[in-house]
Amino acid sequence: MKALDDIEASWTRVTTMDDHGTPEYAEAVDESVRDVPQLVKALRAVLELHVSDGESQGYTPDGYRVIPSACSQCGTPGEYGIPWPCATVRAIESALAPRPQITNEQVEAGAEGLWWSLSEVHNAAWEDLRDSTRAMYRRQARAALEAAAEVQR
Ligand SMILES: [Zn+2]
Repeated sequence: MKALDDIEASWTRVTTMDDHGTPEYAEAVDESVRDVPQLVKALRAVLELHVSDGESQGYTPDGYRVIPSACSQCGTPGEYGIPWPCATVRAIESALAPRPQITNEQVEAGAEGLWWSLSEVHNAAWEDLRDSTRAMYRRQARAALEAAAEVQR
């Protein structure tokens, strides 16, 4: 579906841009925001079709019997109804499920974790530098002492 591919490509462009301070980024965000009403309209159109049509006969895991609430579009309402919400409605509801809330405490804990892991990298680099610098000073001190001993001979 061309329009959906274009909308997705536009959003991918936004999410893959590194520099958020540029006019190009602002333009890409504006372009994606303009897609939102079209996406909402498309989903509402599907949800307005797949509504409960009330009671129907139909196959259930327990056999052929009365389904209290059947989809108006799926199956053959009345005789071979499909329980509502149908797979179409459930798929949309699942995709639109609320995103998990991220608390400030979670953000702080994440930042603290990054700080400590970075500190470990810094500490390891510092220890390497300290050890190699001490080794260099030992070599220089030995060379200076050997040179001084040579002069005294
Ligand atoms: Zn349906």
